[in-house]
Amino acid sequence: MEWTAEAEAALKRVPFFVRRRVRARVEEEARAEGKRRVTLAEVRAAQARFLSGEDAEIRGFRLETCFGPGGCPHRALPTDRLVERLERVLQSAQLYDFLRREVRGPLRFHHEFRVAVADCPNACSQPPIRDVGIIGVRVPETTVEPCSRCGACRDACPEGAVRLSDTDGRPPAIDLDRCLHCGLCIGRCPTGTLAEAWNGYRVLLGGRLGRHPRLGLELPGIFDEDRVVEIVQEALDFLKRHGRGGERFARLFGEREFAAWSRRFCGRSEGAAVSLDRGPMP
Ligand code: SF4
Ligand code: SF4
Ligand code: SF4
Repeated sequence: MEWTAEAEAALKRVPFFVRRRVRARVEEEARAEGKRRVTLAEVRAAQARFLSGEDAEIRGFRLETCFGPGGCPHRALPTDRLVERLERVLQSAQLYDFLRREVRGPLRFHHEFRVAVADCPNACSQPPIRDVGIIGVRVPETTVEPCSRCGACRDACPEGAVRLSDTDGRPPAIDLDRCLHCGLCIGRCPTGTLAEAWNGYRVLLGGRLGRHPRLGLELPGIFDEDRVVEIVQEALDFLKRHGRGGERFARLFGEREFAAWSRRFCGRSEGAAVSLDRGPMP
């Protein structure tokens, strides 16, 4: 590719150990923009990005996790295997190549497809503002084991969702409208009166920050690992079908898509599971 004299002179001022890589990157970006000649402007833009390390770190996606694996006591369930599967799905989508073709000019972090996984509803990795947000949950249920009325479950619940009756031995009632399925009450019960009914993931789609921020739209129900992987795969396919010019998934995913995906991806819901599998909670 042809370089102007000014561009060549600017390249000579780049540190020698990165000069060849800067030249290759400048030409790659110029070609992507349909240019046949490199000018001083292209060199300066690429040089700034290269030396700041921004472009080198862009992978096309970002998979963020919380500190649950580090021993966080609030962890509702281990998400390690899910995260590994998602990493493989995201890598095989070749999003960097896709974005490189679609985006005119340099890739920025905000072009990347972002998935966040949190190991409990405290949501420290900020899933509600990512393209796909995933939150691990544990759904509590009462068992036939007698309750000692120690009150530990009620004291542990940050939502005030546990109510103890005045009658000895009766298990607590859980207000399903308040319960966020963090599972803290389950871990505190010394008698086994409270146990885990099942666990899984809440899934939010289309969250974003920026000029027009929006919290992700939550698909109804709680999903198992396979279904979460399937939803993420569908989100990637959707992005590649419709994401022209580097448009973000969160900008493309609107109310109409949400309604269609809610019908298609039907998560296990609290009421259905309780009545089908366990009988009604007291
Ligand atoms: S999301 Fe929950 S498990 Fe993860 S770091 Fe935050 S409090 Fe801990
Ligand atoms: S699982 Fe529900 S009832 Fe139990 S502590 Fe969490 S919010 Fe409260
Ligand atoms: S359900 Fe368990 S934690 Fe709650 S009051 Fe009864 S024994 Fe205590």
